[in-house]
Amino acid sequence: MTPRRKTHQINVGGVLIGGDAPVAIQSMTSTYTYDIDKTVAQIRNLAEAGCDLVRVAVPKKEDTAALPSILEQSPVPIIADVHFHFERALEAIDAGIHKIRLNPGNIKDRKQVDRVIAACRDKGIPIRVGVNEGSVVERQDKNLRAAQKQTLSENPRDRLVQLMTHTLEDYLRIFDENDFHDVCLSLKSIDATIVIDAYRAASKQFDLPLHLGLTHAGPPETGRIRSVASLGTLLAEGIGDTVRISYASDPVHEVEDAKELLCCFGLRNRVEPELIACPTCGRIEIDLIKLVADVRLKLATIKTPVKVAVMGCVVNGPGEAEGADVAIFAGKGRGIIYVQGEQTRTVTEDQMLEALYEECIAFAARVEKGEVQLSNHSVSIVPPAPLPRSDGSIPLTVMK
Ligand code: SF4
Repeated sequence: MTPRRKTHQINVGGVLIGGDAPVAIQSMTSTYTYDIDKTVAQIRNLAEAGCDLVRVAVPKKEDTAALPSILEQSPVPIIADVHFHFERALEAIDAGIHKIRLNPGNIKDRKQVDRVIAACRDKGIPIRVGVNEGSVVERQDKNLRAAQKQTLSENPRDRLVQLMTHTLEDYLRIFDENDFHDVCLSLKSIDATIVIDAYRAASKQFDLPLHLGLTHAGPPETGRIRSVASLGTLLAEGIGDTVRISYASDPVHEVEDAKELLCCFGLRNRVEPELIACPTCGRIEIDLIKLVADVRLKLATIKTPVKVAVMGCVVNGPGEAEGADVAIFAGKGRGIIYVQGEQTRTVTEDQMLEALYEECIAFAARVEKGEVQLSNHSVSIVPPAPLPRSDGSIPLTVMK
């Protein structure tokens, strides 16, 4: 992991973005913002799932009219997503919004952009300046346009990345001229490789915080891969101050996946159990896939980041489960449970789920009382040695 790049820090309603602040998770509601009850309900669900900031669309005046009530009820800071109508930004600022997302390219009159910037400065509200692949524009200035043509790559992909960063430069010039620097940046594309290159380029060029995201990533099944490939690469390179994973789905899934991604990189501490499980193979002797699914549901009730391993045998399982606080190694009809490396119980197959859950609950309670500490990857599990069967074959697990 490359150490995180330090950027200028902005404050979004008390959530810090950039500098040495943790990478913030954000998402966007899919409700009509004017429907206050549904919007607040979704914001609460997102916050409950671990979302730090929520963006809402405000295409109409009735949407900004709903903001005071939404802001009053929201447990997290709210961002107004503004396109085309600068009035919506001014109304959102008046309502007490915590951040504005603005694309100066679709607000044609420069004076209107200046008014939004002035209003944000007065209230100490930061602005995200976003460039999407579809919104790159030629430079307005003829001389700059001619100079730009000579420097653009002939490779269409590279040219697109260059145009995106050039467009961002043009937008940022407006903010510089207004001496307004509480800005964060985004450069989104549907193409993971363009996202990676665009953010890499922006991270070299600007010291402003970066909002990572793909646009139109698709349903979770495919969007997840694109998002992890692009955002994961950037995060591993120390790039990114806030992330939004976007799916054509319930936005709660975006937050769950963003949280898991940040936890994988050690950029966020787990607050819930972590479940590791073997993929199963020809040695498996129980329906481990079902057991894992059942364990996952059960663990959702525990609010301590216990590391739990569900393994199909003792052949490779112990090594792979090393570091788990509570682990089960399942064999034909039986399972052996370990707690921080100590074998505690041997149970029958029909007892596995409840027994493992009981051990997890008991362990979590001891953690909460300060009697034990969560594992730090140093727990070593030494399994019982497999004994050969009478036909010479190696059994999958050995039960005492
Ligand atoms: S733990 Fe055992 S059953 Fe599971 S994948 Fe590894 S060897 Fe196969």
